[in-house]
Amino acid sequence: MKIDILTIFPAMFKGPLTESLIGKAVGKEIIKINITDVRSFSKDSHKKVDDKPFGGGGGMVMKPEPLYDAIKSAGVKKKNNSYKNPYAKPYVIYMSPQGKTLNHRIIKNLVKFKCLVIICGHYEGIDERIINYVDEEISIGDYVLTGGEIPAMVLVDGIARMLPGVVKEESSVKNDSFYNGLLDYPHYTRPAVFKGHKIPEILLSGDHKKIGEWRAKEAYKRTKERRPDLLKNRVKN
Ligand code: SAH
Repeated sequence: MKIDILTIFPAMFKGPLTESLIGKAVGKEIIKINITDVRSFSKDSHKKVDDKPFGGGGGMVMKPEPLYDAIKSAGVKKKNNSYKNPYAKPYVIYMSPQGKTLNHRIIKNLVKFKCLVIICGHYEGIDERIINYVDEEISIGDYVLTGGEIPAMVLVDGIARMLPGVVKEESSVKNDSFYNGLLDYPHYTRPAVFKGHKIPEILLSGDHKKIGEWRAKEAYKRTKERRPDLLKNRVKN
């Protein structure tokens, strides 16, 4: 999968996208990440990418022209319906607190695409007319951050770990929270007694069938206690 990130702060991505599992996935070419500096598309002599809002009021707005040119540079050319395979079309996402709240279902859908283009906003946001070139607006929660870079990193991380080969053991992804509409079961490692706290006896039994049953029961119990809404949606799905 190819991911183009359009940002005015490219340096923010060093680290989160070069370390750990994402860094390895990039190294193994499971995922290719291009960071595009929107400022390089500014035709202004000062490389300005923002301007005052029409109608007055505080804050600045990201100008449409550099963003439009950056989107086009990421290969977004044809109209949606001119692709035989809809997932081959570069899919344009704008990280926005006004978008759909990110969840496992949205990530599962995005994993199907070959190329994603992610726009990171700043200031008061982007000129609204750019939304004409956006396929989906995604929020990472009901709060406002200073920019779309951290939300973009959250999205890329969530997508990357679903791609085969990124997380070593596929079964561990499948047991994780939300995959089957449940929260994960509790995990323990050595030592078996930590400051007087013992691990559940069953985990020392070596009986994998019984351990599996215990884990399934715990996952269900936690979900019921902490996120009963997930159980309701699970029945609906
Ligand atoms: N005026 C806007 C907020 C702008 S915040 C509003 O009230 O809706 C500046 C930028 O940060 C946004 O353009 C967006 O790209 C990013 N951003 C802030 N909060 C976000 C969130 N919860 N999810 C995704 N992106 C967010």
